This record gives sequence, structure tokens and C-alpha cells, in this order.
Amino acid sequence: VTTRSVNRKTFIIRSAIALLAGVSGAGLFGAAASGASTDYKRLTEDDWRKRLTSEQFVVLRKQGTEFAFSSPLDHETRPGTYSCAGCDLSLFSSKTKFDSGTGWPSFWAPLPNAIETSVDKTFFEVRTEVHCRRCAGHLGHVFDDGPKPTGLRYCMNGVALTFRPGKP
Ligand SMILES: [Zn+2]
Repeated sequence: VTTRSVNRKTFIIRSAIALLAGVSGAGLFGAAASGASTDYKRLTEDDWRKRLTSEQFVVLRKQGTEFAFSSPLDHETRPGTYSCAGCDLSLFSSKTKFDSGTGWPSFWAPLPNAIETSVDKTFFEVRTEVHCRRCAGHLGHVFDDGPKPTGLRYCMNGVALTFRPGKP
């Protein structure tokens, strides 16, 4: 084995490692891995603009509301889990989803330790705003006209959620 072939092997191995690191960082494991380690509450507005689509940014970071009946997730009925589009935290199970007829994906309960609420006094009425526990991204509102067993209706913006089909 000559020095030259050793160097070449080293180069190939290094390239392979770099490639794997790139794939795992940005692809397959990106959301889950960065989800746990990133301090989302310290991200700046510019950071969020880079991470999100413009629609996601307006809803999650500017308390926007998507048009009713605009989200494909409104009609999603497969078993699975709905996660935050900002930080990938699991927020809702398909088991608590129901058709509210409002045009927004609706649930009667969130997953444990997934969301937080605050009082929203915009639009001349007092509503309860719902946001992600981990990244504080705005998700929607919760109302007390939902179905049993909770009587709650979590009215969510579909653009603030990602859906992963599978065992809920
Ligand atoms: Zn989040």
C-alpha cells in the first residue's frame, strides 16, 4: 500500500462521513434530532423567516389565521400524529380530531404537555390563544363549544401543523 492510496482511502472515508453527517443533519433525522436540542424560544424573527414558509411564518410567528377550508389537513382522517410546523413537537393525536365544519382542523384535546394558552384580546373579543409549548408558535384558539368528553374545540391552523400518518 503506497502513501498515495492510503491518502485516497482517507479522503473517500472522510467524504462519506461528511455526506452521512449532511444527510442526517438536514434530512432523515433532522427534525427529530434538532427538535430536542434547539432552544426555540431564543430564535430571532430572522431565524424563523429562514426556517418557515411565508404562510407558516405569518401564522406561527405573527398570530395570523389561514383562510377557512384552505388546509388539506382539515379533511385528513387517517390515523397519525399532528406536530408543530415550527419545532416538530407532537401536539395532537388523530384520536381527538373531529369535523367541526368550521374549515379548520379541530381537536377536542391536545397531547399531554404539548400546548400552552394565553388570553387574546384582539378583534374586540376575548379568546383563548393556543401556542406550542416548545417554540411558542401560534397555533390557533380553543373554544368551549366542542364535543364530549372535554367540550373543548381546539381550532387549529393547518399550516401550523405537520401530519405524520401512522399509529397515533
Ligand atoms: Zn413548536
